[in-house]
Amino acid sequence: MSHTGSSGGQPGPQRTTDRAAALSEPTRAYAELVAGNRRFVDGAPRHPNQDAGHRAAVADGQHPFAVIVGCSDSRLAAEIIFDRGLGDLFVVRTAGHTAGPEVLGSVEYAVTVLGTPLVVVLGHDSCGAVQAARESASTGTAPSGHLGAVVDAVLPSLRRAAAEGVDDIDGIVDIHIAQTVETLLGQSPVLADAVAQGRCAVVGVSYRLAAGAVRPVAAVPAGLAALETAPSTDPAAPATV
Ligand SMILES: [Zn+2]
Repeated sequence: MSHTGSSGGQPGPQRTTDRAAALSEPTRAYAELVAGNRRFVDGAPRHPNQDAGHRAAVADGQHPFAVIVGCSDSRLAAEIIFDRGLGDLFVVRTAGHTAGPEVLGSVEYAVTVLGTPLVVVLGHDSCGAVQAARESASTGTAPSGHLGAVVDAVLPSLRRAAAEGVDDIDGIVDIHIAQTVETLLGQSPVLADAVAQGRCAVVGVSYRLAAGAVRPVAAVPAGLAALETAPSTDPAAPATV
């Protein structure tokens, strides 16, 4: 992790003054991600900011416009599914996008030191971590080793789903995404303050592995999720919220 972000490195050739200003607002940042996801879904990615010139330009400092708190699933590579490049996304990934101390600290680093205006919780259908937690809850057995920590972190979402009468895995995933958004804000006063001051927003999105499209399931402030999303080619995809 670079600690040069606060020193303000030279802007990259594609980060003009207008562009930097545009990406400094949470809504613009979210729109940028939605646009990149649409390109990915449509099979027309531009692969921005992945060339050698940009690599050199961002070496002295980073100004990512979004933090991604995503699941570690190998099919959920943030820069690919949002069609972005070097220096664009500050990515924190754990199995089941759990929000423990190191994750919270990483998010706070991006929001406070780097000034990143958007935090995105990225979950997905058929999530193995959520399925493992569901199995553990139903059988009453805990997985061995440190996998137990992942399951323990997901169990509150399982209990919430049960209380709401939700028992299908993708419905539980949606609840877990919303729960992670709430956990980030509830456990990090630094992040909550940034959101309250309008400097940052937190959005939870669910990614469909086959279709490649993301769909918002939670947002703080709520209005951010009203942005149009990538058209889904999956007829089973629920409506946006
Ligand atoms: Zn997963």
